[in-house]
Amino acid sequence: MDKQEQVEQLTNYVAHFVAHTAKVLPDDVIAKLDELAEKEDSPLSKTIYQTMKLNQKLAKELNRPSCQDTGVMQFIVRCGTNFPLINELEVLLKEAVIRATQQAPLRHNSVETFDEYNTGKNVGTGTPTIFWEIVPNSDELDLYTYMAGGGCSLPGKAMVLMPGAGYEGVTKFVLDVMTSYGLNACPPLLVGVGVGTSVEVAALHAKKALMRPIGSHNPNKNAALLEQLLEDGINKIGLGPQGLGGKYSVMGVNVENSARHPSVIGVAVNVGCWSHRRGHIVFDKNLNYKILSHSGVTL
Ligand code: SF4
Repeated sequence: MDKQEQVEQLTNYVAHFVAHTAKVLPDDVIAKLDELAEKEDSPLSKTIYQTMKLNQKLAKELNRPSCQDTGVMQFIVRCGTNFPLINELEVLLKEAVIRATQQAPLRHNSVETFDEYNTGKNVGTGTPTIFWEIVPNSDELDLYTYMAGGGCSLPGKAMVLMPGAGYEGVTKFVLDVMTSYGLNACPPLLVGVGVGTSVEVAALHAKKALMRPIGSHNPNKNAALLEQLLEDGINKIGLGPQGLGGKYSVMGVNVENSARHPSVIGVAVNVGCWSHRRGHIVFDKNLNYKILSHSGVTL
């Protein structure tokens, strides 16, 4: 294959994968929703989970997105410096979103800020959002895809806490966000919490935390404990499925962090909804792919 054919193939793979993730949830999300459906015991909660299950079944059978809000596409790109299409990647990801928008179809969710018109293609200035991570001496492309819906993006918040706030301050910040905006985001939620020095660092950690599988834990045992305590605390709010009450508010809480300035704690929350359309696919240098988020898929 020459370079142009490789670009065409990768564009099509990504377009098909994105279209698929609009219709079928990742394996870990499906398993967690099934688990929570079992554990809830109020008739209303049970009915909502049954409706979610039916929604997923019909989306697959009818080949349609499982939620009308297919979000703004975001990519977290961990790209090896030796991946053969590194130079073409940014342009081809944009083209893949345009193709997926037509194929799936996806809702047109890219409105030019300040000019207030919809591009009609689901891409625009700076969208899809691409977060780059360059991996030295690798020839792989490790790609996360995410549909950032309006409702699930709504609780997003970041701030830098006063020096004395400590980890109690982090907890208060997260719980304040969840008690005020959590129900807007179609629970049960996956809550991403980022901790670092400044707001943009914390916010990016919080987004990356949403890429981690449900049930995974931060490798630091204190951070893992914070994940568990926050999960227990947010569940006690009793949001339940779709915010209509229940024993479980969240599918999980994932904390990501970096070392920080000793005087401050930057903290951020990013939220995924029950329809958490996250995909994870890895390409080798020959464009052979491995899909890690969804089983049984051929592109
Ligand atoms: S929060 Fe999620 S499930 Fe609810 S409308 Fe938005 S994208 Fe759809």
